[in-house]
This record gives sequence, structure tokens and C-alpha cells, in this order.
Amino acid sequence: MSDCLFCKIAAGEIPSRKVYEDEVCFAFYDIAPQAPSHFLVIPKEHIGSVSDIGSANSAVVAHIFEVIAKITAEKGIESYRVVSNIGEQAGQSVHHLHFHVLSGRDMTWPPG
Ligand code: AMP
Repeated sequence: MSDCLFCKIAAGEIPSRKVYEDEVCFAFYDIAPQAPSHFLVIPKEHIGSVSDIGSANSAVVAHIFEVIAKITAEKGIESYRVVSNIGEQAGQSVHHLHFHVLSGRDMTWPPG
């Protein structure tokens, strides 16, 4: 999508601190980290949120979770939280599917 921030980051049109990239997804550090390690993993294709996942694109999400397991293993991150906010009340501010991967501090449950 031409006016989507994360589409532009995935395309390299807006700079980011890249963590990982392949044909399907892109991972980069969050600009406002909420934990000592906080990166985002996004599909390269535009998907608005978890609500837009269906049989046509769910393989992308499976791949993203494989990538999350790979990145965290390579970085020696054993305990972490994966979060995806959907909609305004949940705190979604960028309308391109993304998974937050947070680690390096104690986390509360339930989240605030
Ligand atoms: P959410 O609020 O769940 O939609 O998450 C969006 C996330 O994107 C927030 O944690 C922001 O800090 C992060 N973010 C926004 N703009 C950028 C950017 N240019 N580079 C890296 N992270 C960003």
C-alpha cells in the first residue's frame, strides 16, 4: 500500500534498524522500545491486522512465527513475549500486521 509506513520500511524506502529479512517478511527494532529488546516482524505484503488473516495468507503468518523462533534462538533469547494489537482499543497504531517481540525484563500478566 503506497501510504503505509510499514510497507515503506519493508521496501527500504524508510530507514530502520534491520534484524532480519527474507522474501516474505522483514524484522526491525521498534523505534520506541518497551523492553530491553523489542523488535517487530512484519509481512512484506500488506495485511492490515490479524483480522485480515485467512486461508489465502495464513502461510505468511506461519512463516513469521518460524522466523521469530529462529531470530530469538540465534540471539539467545529464551523468554519473550509476542504481541499483536488489533484495533484502536487494543492499541494498534500502525495498520499493517506486525508482531512485537519483547524480552529482557520481567513482564506482568494480565497486560495493562
Ligand atoms: P502498534 O501500536 O501495536 O500498532 O505498534 C506499532 C509500533 O510501531 C509501535 O511500537 C511504534 O513504536 C513502532 N513504530 C512506529 N514507527 C516506527 C518506525 N519508523 N520504526 C520502527 N518502529 C516504529
